[in-house]
Parts: sequence; C-alpha cells; structure tokens
Amino acid sequence: MTSEKRKNNGHVAELLSGYVDGELTQQQQQRVDVHCADCGQCRNDLVELSALRDNIGKAGFSGFNQDVWREMMNDTTVNTTRGIGWLLLIGGVLIAMGIGVVGFLFGSSTGIGEKLLVSVIYGGLALLFFSVLRQRLIERKTDKYKDVEI
Ligand SMILES: [Zn+2]
Repeated sequence: MTSEKRKNNGHVAELLSGYVDGELTQQQQQRVDVHCADCGQCRNDLVELSALRDNIGKAGFSGFNQDVWREMMNDTTVNTTRGIGWLLLIGGVLIAMGIGVVGFLFGSSTGIGEKLLVSVIYGGLALLFFSVLRQRLIERKTDKYKDVEI
C-alpha cells in the first residue's frame, strides 16, 4: 500500500474532469479513488468539480439536454423556482431598504428633521403594505362566506 502510494504521488488533477464525466477507464478511475483517499487537495478539487458539473447540468448550460430542459419546464420546478425567486427578490429589497434606512438614520450628515421625515414615509409605506395585505386576506375570507351569508 505504501509503495503504491509513493508510485501515485503525482496528483490526479488531469483525470478529475474525466472522472466526474465518467469517461475514465476502470484503471484510471481506481487511480483517482486511491489518490483521493489520501490527498485532500485532489479530493476537494473533485468535490468542487462535481458540484460545478451538477450546477451546470441543472441550469442546462452544457448542451441544453432536452430532458433537463423539459424537467425545468415542469410545473412544480417552475413554481419552486418562482417561489425562490420571489423570496430572494423580496429578501434582497428588504435588506437593501434596511441598510439604506439604517445608514440614513445613523448617518451623521442628515438632520433630525430629515430623519423623522424618512421614518414617517417608511412607516407609511409599511402601514399601506400591511393594510393592503390585510384587505386581501379579509376579501378572501368574505368571498368564502359570501354564499352562506346571502
Ligand atoms: Zn492530489
């Protein structure tokens, strides 16, 4: 085992891409397996490379695999993606607004009057947002009970 290790002390970086793609001979595959068992560097490279390949495959950048594309167009996938998209968008906007407001409120160059004004505006926006949201929820509820009440 030790002699084999010494024999294989050259890194297998050039084989990793083929390994991920499953293009290696069994012998080469074994060499990568054996080497990566001992070499953290090549193991990390392999993990990173396979993660990269996975992402590229999912995004459909490489060759635009028909099946992958069809899978992406699948309703569930699209809904999930859209949901995540909205979450990211709203989260990003909220964080950006938060940073902006905090920076503005705690910045030394702004007067107390301006700070108050901005606070009032943002407070108003928040109230409007929540009132619209509340109205939507109430509308949905009354819609549900409309038939019963009439
Ligand atoms: Zn190595």
